[in-house]
Formats: sequence, structure tokens, C-alpha cells
Amino acid sequence: MVESRHKIESRTWHVQRAHLLIASMRRFAEQLRASGFNVDYRVAPTMGHGFREHCAEHSPASVEATEPNSRAARALLEQLGVHMVPSNQFLCHPTDFAQFAATRKSYKMEDFYRWQRRRLAYLMDGDEPAEGRWNFDEFNREPPPKPGTVEWPSPLLSELDHVDMAVVRDVADSTFGEQPVGLWPTSRAEALRRLDHFINNSLSAFGPHEDAMVSYNWHLAHSMLSPALNIGLLLPAEICDRVEVAYREGRIPIQSAEGFLRQIIGWREFVWNLYWIQPAEYALMNELNATMPLPPVFTNAAQSNMNCVRSIINDVNDRGWVHHIPRLMVLGNLALIAGINPQEFTTWMWDAFVDSAEWVMVPNVVGMSLYADGGILATKPYAAGGAYIDRMSDYCKPCAFNRKNRVGEDACPFTTLYWDFLLRHETRFVRNPRIATQVRAAQKLKDADAVRSRAREVLSALQSGTL
Ligand code: SF4
Repeated sequence: MVESRHKIESRTWHVQRAHLLIASMRRFAEQLRASGFNVDYRVAPTMGHGFREHCAEHSPASVEATEPNSRAARALLEQLGVHMVPSNQFLCHPTDFAQFAATRKSYKMEDFYRWQRRRLAYLMDGDEPAEGRWNFDEFNREPPPKPGTVEWPSPLLSELDHVDMAVVRDVADSTFGEQPVGLWPTSRAEALRRLDHFINNSLSAFGPHEDAMVSYNWHLAHSMLSPALNIGLLLPAEICDRVEVAYREGRIPIQSAEGFLRQIIGWREFVWNLYWIQPAEYALMNELNATMPLPPVFTNAAQSNMNCVRSIINDVNDRGWVHHIPRLMVLGNLALIAGINPQEFTTWMWDAFVDSAEWVMVPNVVGMSLYADGGILATKPYAAGGAYIDRMSDYCKPCAFNRKNRVGEDACPFTTLYWDFLLRHETRFVRNPRIATQVRAAQKLKDADAVRSRAREVLSALQSGTL
């Protein structure tokens, strides 16, 4: 095993992400040794250095590895002559995806998801989806419940030990954010404990409120399994098997089982395969010509009067994690409608989230969130004003801005920028049936000039860190 200093020190990671990766590696090495394996664990300047040092000392006849999850790592292993075998971290290998893609001109997540359901036989009754439909999204968009009306099981914590303390010391100089408290599991046993906890205590409540955001509870019924899943402490098949069993035993409703399964075998695997099917240049796309540098609010939440953004950035700083809706509909949405450079925003997301990796961040940010691929991944830009955030959260009431106003000093920046975004890109999006109605509404605005003028003020304040 090689702990690459370059990997850790070349960027400013969230400390909980760096800790998760390194502590998991060191703990795994300890467990392998305890089980009788001979482990050569090296801290080296780079993966290549560590590999060459190992080969020089031990002269292995051959080296075998599971396929790594990034282009760069695969290229390195090819260059080093390592024999790679398929990984079990995903259920749809790119060679499987090629069969799905062969029969289609464009790739839609919904088609892929149904293909996966049939192929893997999750939540299927013969050839038909369980309970007669593929999609229960319409039951899974409940607004945020009032405090005290739903019980949200508290996340499990693991006690930090000498391994954790040593890692925290080792990464202190190149990281940011609050120190680990044992939230993210760094061993197989602790990851399995989180999986049990989710299936038995949270999953039944997951579906209805999966899109809600509340300031009084950061986790709701989300699984928070993605950090363990994305580094291989959990495998997708075992998670899906547990969901299937819990549903068949009548312990969770279909809307929760289906909504969660859609995330695992649908979105996650779709994004994974798009990463491989697109050329490396996909990461550099910027179809909407978004040029604003990353504004200071992303690195210093105290600078913002926007209650939603301030709360969510504080959550990211505290844990390196927020669920998919704050990521997509607040942070990503702000970057989209403000015109923040997609590559700068991708880098920030990649550094700041515990469950990140190139394969997940590039398609999700460049494609899904910022529409910088011109619609290869998403069929519409996920742009929204304050009305959406107000409907799905409790952030707006105490905010300094008024989510209903698009012009004026107290206008909600999301509302102003949403209308300005539609006006800026009206020619492109008026042809898109999924968003044409909103564009036509923007074209009819009587105060369009005032919106544009207020948007200029908002963008300037965002850039100077005074919004
Ligand atoms: Fe966010 Fe606007 Fe709501 Fe304030 S009013 S919390 S800025 S959406």
C-alpha cells in the first residue's frame, strides 16, 4: 500500500476527507497484518515512487490491482505494467454500459436506471417494477417538516484512536475545516455498523423528505454512506441487497426503497459511466461561458448575508458533507445562475466534500449542476430562485433578503440571478421544452431592465464578498 504525499499535499483538502482516506488505509493495513498478511505500507512522495521502491526491494514476479477509479491512476498503473482486474465498487462496468449505450442515440438516466433495475433484479416482480411503477419521486418531495414532527435518528460516531490522532497530525498543514469527530467510518466494521443503522432506523423515513433542507437538523434520514461506499468500505451490491430484503419484509415503504435504490444503482452508476464514456476534455467544458472566479463566500461563510448559503457552507466546513439538494439546488444553483467558472467550482467541491472523487465531481458539477456540457448529462439547467429554496427549506424566514423580490436592496440574490440567468441565456433555453415556459415568462417581465441592473449589483457584491 502506498500513501502518496503528493496526493495529500498537492491540494487543500477538507481535513475530514484527508483523514477518511488515510486513516482507512492505515487501519486496513493493520487489519490485514492481524489476519496474517504481509503488508508493505509505504509513505512515499508519489504512488509511482512507492511502487518502484517496493519492486526494487521485493522483485515481485507480477503485480495485480483492482482497476482504480480515475483516469490518471489507471494510466499510471498501465505505465508501470500492473495487471488490472475489474473492481466490485460499481455494479455496471463500462463494458456493461457499452451494451446499454449501443442501442441508444443519447443516454437518459431514467432509461439507464430501468435497465439496471431489470438487469440486477432489484425491486422487480417478474418483468414489472414493484408496486407497478418505476418512479416514486412525486411522493418524495415533501416540504420540510416542522421541528419535533419527525424523529431523525442521530448518526453513529466512532471513538477516535491512535491511528486517527496520527493522521490528523500528519495532514494538519495541508487541510482546512473542522477536525474529525468519528462521524465517517474508517474501517469495514464501522461502515457495516452505519449500514445497519441506516437500514433499521432511517431508511423508512428517507423517501418523503429526501429533498428537504432544515436548519435545525443537518442529516435528516439520509444514509451518509457515500464516503464509505466511494472508498470501498461498503459495496453497492450489499447495500442494495439490504434495501431489497427490508422492503420485502415490509419494513420500509416502496417510496423510500425506490428513492434510495435510484441513488445507488441509478445516479451513482450513471455518473460513473459518463465519466468513462466522455473524453478527458469533458472536464474543461464551459458551454455557458461562465467566467466568474470562485467567490469568497465558498471559503468564508461568515461573509454572507444569504442565510441558506451561510448555513450550508458552515455545514460543509463542519463535516465535509451536505446532502444532494443543498449541493445541487443551493451551492450548484448559485454557481450556475451567477456564472461561476465550472472548473473552479468543480475543484472547490472536490476538495471540500468527504465523498468526492474526480469521477463523481466532474460529471455532477460540469454536467448536472452547471450545464457546462451543454446538456449531455442533464436535460435542463437546474436553475431556481428563492421560491424553490423557500418551499424546500426553513432558511428564508430569518434571512436578511426577501425571497419574493427580484429587484431592490432586499431582493433575494437567488431570485434576481434566476431571472437574469433566463434572460442572459434566453436564445439557448427557449428551445428547451423543459425550461421554455420559464424563459418565456422572463421575456415578458416588465421590470427586466431593473432585474439586469440589480443582477449586476448582486454579482459585484458576490465577487467582493459583501453579499
Ligand atoms: Fe437564500 Fe434568498 Fe431564502 Fe435568503 S431569501 S435564505 S438568500 S433563498
